[in-house]
Amino acid sequence: MRPPLLDPLFASASSLPGIGPKNAQLLDRLLGGLEHGARVLDVLMHLPHDGVDRRNRPTIAQAPVGAVSTIRIRVVEHRPPRAKGPYRVLAEDETGDLTLVFFRANGGWVEKALPVGATRWVSGLVEMFDYYKQMVHPDRILDEEGLKSLPPVEPVYGLTEGLFPRVMTKAAAGALARLPTLPEWLDAAFVRSNGWPTFAEALRRAHEPQAPADLKPDSKTFARLAYDELLSHQLALRLVRSKAQAVRGRPQPGDGVLRATLIKALPFALTGDQTKALKEIAADLASDKRMLRLLQGDVGSGKTVVALLAMAQAIEAGRQAALMAPTEILARQHFETIKPLAEAAGLTVALATGRDKATERRATLAALASGALNIVVGTHALVQEDFVFRDLGLAVIDEQHRFGVQQRLALGEKNAGVDVLAMTATPIPRSLALAYFGDMDLSALREKPPGRQPITTVTINAERIDEVVAGLGRALKGGARVYWVCPLVAESEDSDLAAAQGRAEDLQKFFGDKVGLVHGQMKGRDKDAAMEAFASGATQILVATTVIEVGVNVPEATVMVIEHAERFGLAQLHQLRGRVGRGDRKSSCILLYAGPLGETAKARLEILRETEDGFRIAEEDLKLRGEGEILGVRQSGAPGFRIARLEVHADLLRFARDDAEKLLAADPDLRGERGDSIKLLLYLFERETALKLLRAG
Ligand code: ADP
Ligand code: MG
Repeated sequence: MRPPLLDPLFASASSLPGIGPKNAQLLDRLLGGLEHGARVLDVLMHLPHDGVDRRNRPTIAQAPVGAVSTIRIRVVEHRPPRAKGPYRVLAEDETGDLTLVFFRANGGWVEKALPVGATRWVSGLVEMFDYYKQMVHPDRILDEEGLKSLPPVEPVYGLTEGLFPRVMTKAAAGALARLPTLPEWLDAAFVRSNGWPTFAEALRRAHEPQAPADLKPDSKTFARLAYDELLSHQLALRLVRSKAQAVRGRPQPGDGVLRATLIKALPFALTGDQTKALKEIAADLASDKRMLRLLQGDVGSGKTVVALLAMAQAIEAGRQAALMAPTEILARQHFETIKPLAEAAGLTVALATGRDKATERRATLAALASGALNIVVGTHALVQEDFVFRDLGLAVIDEQHRFGVQQRLALGEKNAGVDVLAMTATPIPRSLALAYFGDMDLSALREKPPGRQPITTVTINAERIDEVVAGLGRALKGGARVYWVCPLVAESEDSDLAAAQGRAEDLQKFFGDKVGLVHGQMKGRDKDAAMEAFASGATQILVATTVIEVGVNVPEATVMVIEHAERFGLAQLHQLRGRVGRGDRKSSCILLYAGPLGETAKARLEILRETEDGFRIAEEDLKLRGEGEILGVRQSGAPGFRIARLEVHADLLRFARDDAEKLLAADPDLRGERGDSIKLLLYLFERETALKLLRAG
């Protein structure tokens, strides 16, 4: 049971002051999990990745060009736009003049905010224009009173479409106020020698930074929190491993007959990597050790077939198999791949999702319990208690990082000694994989199935967008289907939506009703309809925000245009690009960037041009990000971690490993005094499933 001390942190984020239903929904989308919406804890753990320094208070003459300053000015004159052009306000102090420029000045708010003759503080980026200093759209316009509540450094959070920075800031302040007094779980001498703050103090400094240094991943603030997370993870891994080793697996060697039938029924030959992975899996299944193996491979690398053949081996041994996917779309896709093949080999397969009709569900449950059903494919509905198997031999878990240890374990606990095969399309370098999934053996599919057309990737300066549009015109005449992705512009208070909507309108001028739009704020029904229209060819260009990342399969799509490619992480670009090149036609990916690009940004895009190997891209991503250039919105860290980043905190990982080992050697059941506070740590980082193992074992 969770210590009641922590209850306030597990309340819904909608209970925070200032969070109404609409923002609660956006927070759910940004921070919610599979089984719960955003909670106070999720807000606390969602740390800012950058900050805007508002402490610099120069005179106009002293204000450095190209930096953010907060300046005291007197309003001299208003210059509304003549025909076109921006609204200008002339301002001054005793040292010089500053022009304030507004592109959206409708409704007279500028006149109200900056009355002529008044003294105000304006905070924003100072630029040079025709020898004059100007500030375009000051971030803040404050009077003396307002200045008092301007934070020294304004945190910048990763956001989602429609969620405004100030809402996030307010939510974080509310969440900090709910933080109870917690005991120290780390070794006091260790904390002291590192000069680290307490857990609570570190959270406070991260959300209410006093200096930009507080927001650096290598700061003491972040190091403290990353260490807490790494330690909780290492403890959980150790507890899981000792439990897994304690429960023996049941050998399921199988006679190979089913597998041979299936392989014969396949319309293709297995790749070398598929064969190798299957050999590794077959050996695991045959042994009396419990299998805990991770199969990594890009989208389209052929993981599903490997899973099917692994399941066949369990069935040969007289058992059943289950495949669990994180979304209904993915579960359905697996089901559709597996069903015809499995049925050709005389196997029974059913699909189970949260939306099944009651009669269907009853039939599935009965067939699972009797053993009439060999394979069930489904969502996390499968871990529910009424799913009782006659004898589950193998659990396959797709995109396992999206489930968390909790559900991953739950499916494996359906019967004694269930073998577990996890799959992921997020390739991560081996060094990292060992740290993240230290309890698992690894297999990889690096080789693409034959017959795939390579994707031609080009980088083009966004200034040449007209040429791109002209090129698309030609492609559309030939029947091409095109994705056009607009990025999240989380730093701006204007909805990101505007970018995608604006782009769709632009393209409609050229291509009329051939252009569709899909974004995160659309209702599910409208989203489906937009996707459907694109899949059927009714629309040929689909303008999208990054929502298309999830489970989209339109084999006819051959062109991917990504705007502001420089703002995306490499891994994300790679995933997006994977949406094309799925059919047998030649595909291309056009990365539009806003120049000029820095060295690192150039190198990043170069890698995508060079290779389609997800593993190589992951390794390069790690190397380059190690150099510290973080562009745009922070990519969600590698699977399973909220705060720790191995390229920065790798040294801490080693300490955390040793720490966890010593701790459990001294107090294997966490009964001592430090054990109690360690339990709090495990709950805070949601590794408490490991505690259940303690009790069971
Ligand atoms: P993943 O699950 O890794 O994204 P899938 O298993 O869905 O990939 O495979 C993608 C497509 O490739 C499927 O249509 C599958 O039938 C096909 N495929 C898998 N293995 C091979 C192979 N060895 N040769 C040719 N096609 C293959
Ligand atoms: Mg797949």
